[in-house]
Amino acid sequence: MLTRDIALLNQGAFDVVVIGGGIFGACAAREAALAGLSVALIEQKDFSHATSANHFKMVHCGIRYLQHLDIKRLWESSYERSALLRIAPHLVQTVPIVIPTYGVGSQGKPFLGVGMLTYDLLTIRRNEKILPDKRIAPTQFFSRSKLLSFFPGLNKAGLTGGMVFDEGQMYNLPRLALAFIHSAAERGAVVANYVRATDFLTSNGKIIGVKSVDETTGESFEVQSRYVLNTAGPWAHRLLNTDKSIALKPVPTFSRDLAFTLPRRFDHRYGVALPSETRDADVLADRGGRHLFAVPWRTCTLIGVWHKVFEGPPEEVNVEPEELEQFRREVAHAYPGLCDDLDQIQVINTGLTLFGDAHDQRQRGLSFGKRSMLVDHKAVHGRAGLVTLIGVRATTARGMASKAIGLILRKLNKPFTSKKASAYQPVWGGGVASFSQINEEIQAFDPVRLSTQVVRSLAHNYGSKTDKILGYVRQNRNWAMPLQGSTTLPAEVVHSVREEMALTLGDVVFRRTDLGTGGKPTKAALTICADIMATELGWSKTKMEHELELVNQSYPRLG
Ligand SMILES: Cc1cc2nc3c(=O)[nH]c(=O)nc-3n(C[C@H](O)[C@H](O)[C@H](O)COP(=O)(O)OP(=O)(O)OC[C@H]3O[C@@H](n4cnc5c(N)ncnc54)[C@H](O)[C@@H]3O)c2cc1C
Repeated sequence: MLTRDIALLNQGAFDVVVIGGGIFGACAAREAALAGLSVALIEQKDFSHATSANHFKMVHCGIRYLQHLDIKRLWESSYERSALLRIAPHLVQTVPIVIPTYGVGSQGKPFLGVGMLTYDLLTIRRNEKILPDKRIAPTQFFSRSKLLSFFPGLNKAGLTGGMVFDEGQMYNLPRLALAFIHSAAERGAVVANYVRATDFLTSNGKIIGVKSVDETTGESFEVQSRYVLNTAGPWAHRLLNTDKSIALKPVPTFSRDLAFTLPRRFDHRYGVALPSETRDADVLADRGGRHLFAVPWRTCTLIGVWHKVFEGPPEEVNVEPEELEQFRREVAHAYPGLCDDLDQIQVINTGLTLFGDAHDQRQRGLSFGKRSMLVDHKAVHGRAGLVTLIGVRATTARGMASKAIGLILRKLNKPFTSKKASAYQPVWGGGVASFSQINEEIQAFDPVRLSTQVVRSLAHNYGSKTDKILGYVRQNRNWAMPLQGSTTLPAEVVHSVREEMALTLGDVVFRRTDLGTGGKPTKAALTICADIMATELGWSKTKMEHELELVNQSYPRLG
């Protein structure tokens, strides 16, 4: 259970305080707790509210890095995809992606086939200790006719067939981050949302914690620690700028990435890579423009990803209608009929992610962020007590968090004995013998019969911890009636408030349940959800209406 107890944050010094509760901070908190460190995690808004909630759901297999001849990065991605499938099998699955092949040149089957088979060999141990129903398939080949039976809208001129590889896909990234946070809390981590770090605490030049403010009350307090780990994502350098002697130079460049969801377009489980107009500046083995992806996810199709260098404050991340239309046109050009109208878009996801060097951007040639930044401020600025980790891909969050905590353990002269456990020990809800078994167990739940869709959603979101939700249903059978037009149970809303620190309607709608992440919930569903929260948290009618208004304003944009 996650309990928001601010008093625990300023009672004595922690080994490490983690700033920022996105996926990188969440992984770091678990990693530190697994290593036996005393750890606090603070998040200025809700866990995962920023970039992490706006992600395209891909756990990259790393095949793209073969084009860059970056084998180290390929292995890193593949290892992390396997680790997530192993430790969070309820929230991560595989999704087959087809790359259409054209002609006999760099986009042809022979060229791509060699690359894909090389990839299979390089990642031969990818299924180690992964549940049978989560295993990663080797490369498959599609004939032209088979490919067109799945994707009839593809450009047919010169089309020879397709190659299929497995990416990982997250069912719900905010819930994945919460699973890491639960795991940390189970091992004694003190975690709190709506707590902002405002400045660093220093003593004799060493950083010894952070000044903080509880955003729900405005009260200021200090969190003392032997080490501070700054995982504040796009805000990380703003926090460092509070003390010029530790500011990052040059200031990191961020890309405003953009993806959106459409109602389900394909009636099968394959996603497709579509050639786009934009090119990748770093490609050594060039095979044309970058790819856009159209990928099935829950009851939607995800379309992404579009990039643009962004230099403004993270709070102002936005997308103008003209740019969205430009992206839509590129999608429609790549696959006619996929998105004819902006009105078809259900949810827009935008956020900031590390980019290459802004000065290096060529027209139609984008240099993407390749590696996360891990900064030891003692080595770079001569200031002990502080490490910064700015992540480039959620895929590698666990591994990079492990490196950051490994660095802190070395500084604290402690052994790193939990390194392997982190990639093998299930996270909260991940201790399942098989995904189908967990479905069957929930299906067999008595006294209330739950629909297949509700069972699936519970199995994905809570895995082996679904009993927590069923416990609430046992208390009140009305809590087993899904909110209108959704698979979300009132029992989940109550659980979010009582056991997962949900404080606002948006926390429940966007980050604790499936209610609003794929599309806008019905008015009745939102009202009942708000009503339950009002009862749980003692909201007035005015407060409840304000919360409803805030959620309604978020559509179709979320980021
Ligand atoms: C559209 C889009 C699609 C993407 N698709 C993919 C994909 O398919 N696969 C993939 O692997 N990656 C993808 N990414 C990248 C991935 O989402 C990011 O790398 C990842 O989410 C970054 O996580 P983070 O924890 O570093 O940052 P964030 O999620 O932004 O978290 C940082 C947190 O720090 C908090 N914070 C900031 N300042 C303070 C403070 N002073 N005190 C307390 N808390 C603070 C913020 O509130 C925020 O919650 C995508 C990104 C975008 C935008």
